[in-house]
Amino acid sequence: MSIEEFDYIALGGGSGGIASAARAAQNGAKVALVEYKELGGTCVNVGCVPKKAMWFAAQIADTLELAGDYGFDITNNGLNWTTLIAARDHYISNIHKFYDGYLERLNIKHIQGFGCFVNENTLEVNGKHYSAPHIVLAPGGKPTIPDIPGAEYGTDSDGFFALDHCPESCTVVGSGYIAVELAGVLNSLGCKVTQVIRKASVLREFDTMLSEEVFLAMENSGINIVIDSTPEKVTINEDGQPVLHTTKGELPATETLLWAIGRTPQGDALNLGAAGLSTDERGFIQTDKFQNTVTNGIYAVGDITGRAQLTPVAVAAGRRLASRLFDNQTDLHLDYSVIPTVVFSHPPIGTVGMTEQQANDEYGEDNIKVYKSRFTPMFSALTSYKQPVSMKLVTTGDEEKVVGCHLIGLAADEMLQGFAVAIKMGATKADFDNTVAIHPTSSEELVTMT
Ligand code: FAD
Ligand code: NDP
Repeated sequence: MSIEEFDYIALGGGSGGIASAARAAQNGAKVALVEYKELGGTCVNVGCVPKKAMWFAAQIADTLELAGDYGFDITNNGLNWTTLIAARDHYISNIHKFYDGYLERLNIKHIQGFGCFVNENTLEVNGKHYSAPHIVLAPGGKPTIPDIPGAEYGTDSDGFFALDHCPESCTVVGSGYIAVELAGVLNSLGCKVTQVIRKASVLREFDTMLSEEVFLAMENSGINIVIDSTPEKVTINEDGQPVLHTTKGELPATETLLWAIGRTPQGDALNLGAAGLSTDERGFIQTDKFQNTVTNGIYAVGDITGRAQLTPVAVAAGRRLASRLFDNQTDLHLDYSVIPTVVFSHPPIGTVGMTEQQANDEYGEDNIKVYKSRFTPMFSALTSYKQPVSMKLVTTGDEEKVVGCHLIGLAADEMLQGFAVAIKMGATKADFDNTVAIHPTSSEELVTMT
């Protein structure tokens, strides 16, 4: 069998694979990219992009509710879901077209099909063999479905994006990013949402201020959060609607049941053994800080590595890897510390660095100082519904180095990026205070906290 040879092959045409392939090609490598679905991966097709479009729609719905307080005489005749989905999907199809042209301009061969290893240098796709001395694995993950009877009566985040109408009612199971984001979107768009969580709060890995505030805001916005409930089985009622049974009993049937309980890595089907590789017990492919796997010449980036499962992380790791391999930047690697992240909840969360709890554990209570603020943003000053903004800076040492910044409230999503630069550079509280505020904004509070 003939083998087509490349300098670099990226398996997976999502955030990490495309970014890495492009950087390699820009540095003169002969590159192939293997993808069996649409280009763009999770983020573009069933993740960040369609989610953000839906979140914007939800923001508009929320704003319309408050428009009267600003003097507008508006009759809201409701959302045309079909129009929203068509606009969203048109935007996504433009991204696909962009990627087609991008790969072509960079001379990257787009191999359409499912790839798996033949040996450590060779992948098989649609019965053909492709080899390279360097192969990067970026196959991402898929939604986790619980292993309980009747789980198939529920859908997942992929199914959410395929909905052809807004469900009248929905049970969202889970307490992480996706559950919180999609529960908020559905609620704002007019669906009656019940959120089912195993413990007493959502986003439990986040700073307590954030998990408490978002929980409160979700309840205040009308979401019914059912705590301490682990799903046990799903049945179907006489109307064909799913009924969730949990450790706390049976919940009322809803039109839709949505699993949002984490994501499962997609390494299993790659015939990893042929390349001397295996996954860990959670299904992730382990790498060192240079993204090297245990097999020489095979690397992994993005969600498959199980570290900070975010698009910019996959992109940054993929680009640095390609620059290390093809631009002679031999020590280049991604520093996985101090990664900023936003949860597009209602209201949004922005967070970077250590939580107060983590700083306590790391430095001891006597060596940290925490600054907090909770206030009504000016937008809400004129409205009947008042959504507060809460902020927290976690500092350590005599110089009060800022090691954590946690925000929740209107525009927190757009506030964080610049502060993340400062924190990554090692800014102290005095550096924050020495920066002149921008008025009137909510973010000015971050440079005036006492
Ligand atoms: P992916 O983007 O998942 O790409 C992997 C690609 O590999 C897929 O296209 C898949 O089809 C392909 N593939 C798999 N196996 C094979 C094979 N054997 N052969 C060929 N192709 C294969 N992150 C953010 O930063 N911000 C957000 O707002 C955000 N929102 C999200 C919302 C949702 C609902 C979800 C599910 C995720 C969200 N994420 C967000 C996370 C983000 O989408 C992922 O971290 C990111 O896509 C990971 O990139 P990746 O390259 O590792 O994998
Ligand atoms: P997460 O890992 O964020 O959260 C899933 C949570 O669901 C768990 O932490 C757990 O919380 C709960 N859970 C786990 N198993 C079960 C179960 N069997 N029954 C009930 N609850 C369960 O996963 P998501 O699916 O929300 O998101 C996956 C990843 O995608 C995120 O971690 C993030 O990296 C990325 N993402 C990023 C976004 C962004 O940047 N804005 C948006 C969406 C996704 P507990 O232990 O409290 O029960």
